[in-house]
Amino acid sequence: MNKGSLIIISGPSGSGKDTVLKKLFKKMPEIEFSISSVSRAMREGEIQGEKYNFITRAEFEKMIADDALLEYNVYCDNYYGTPKAPVERCIASGGEIILEVDVNGAANVRKNCPDNFSVFIAPPSFEVLRNRLINRGTETDEVIEKRLAQAKNELDRAKEYDYIVVNDDLDVAVDELKNIILSERHKIDRNSDILAKL
Ligand code: ADP
Ligand code: 5GP
Repeated sequence: MNKGSLIIISGPSGSGKDTVLKKLFKKMPEIEFSISSVSRAMREGEIQGEKYNFITRAEFEKMIADDALLEYNVYCDNYYGTPKAPVERCIASGGEIILEVDVNGAANVRKNCPDNFSVFIAPPSFEVLRNRLINRGTETDEVIEKRLAQAKNELDRAKEYDYIVVNDDLDVAVDELKNIILSERHKIDRNSDILAKL
């Protein structure tokens, strides 16, 4: 069995992570997605259990107490966390799972879980990022400003990642991410079974 892999994806809010990942999953349906638990309010159009399980702060704190999270962080006043069980199950069966987490979550996963690689999705410019957040229309002006302030810190930490993909042309960005994942599948240490058989 090939070794599984944990694929960490981060990038500032509005850089296009969700949009890129939706297209990627159409091309690579074999890859799993880690559904995060989150205490923020549901946005219009979001579906419970699709990208997030929306829970209360008290329910989130119970997950922390039960040690049910692989990592968690507070981002713009809300809890976000990765449930442990589905990730462990996927890796144990030799699969690949994408974790879309913020820069602190990514650092924790790198520290605690082997067999990972990380990709930073960057916007083409800060102005484009601002315009994408405004045009998405899902946050108040105040929250957009908070997210843009956070974005500066996140862009400073992009060098912690193994790869960077600039999401300017969407199809190019999706193909670049796909190529990174395909290359990672050929790493020697993920394919020890091939050599063992020879
Ligand atoms: P994130 O998940 O990183 O917060 P989204 O995927 O929600 O970002 O994208 C933010 C906004 O930018 C959305 O309105 C989306 O339609 C738009 N968007 C994403 N990628 C592109 C792109 N390559 N070109 C133009 N608009 C984009
Ligand atoms: P949003 O509210 O825009 O969906 O997400 C805000 C930020 O939280 C993004 O940077 C996103 O990557 C991050 N995020 C989403 N899920 C998780 C998670 O499970 N853990 C951590 N640490 N961050 C997450």
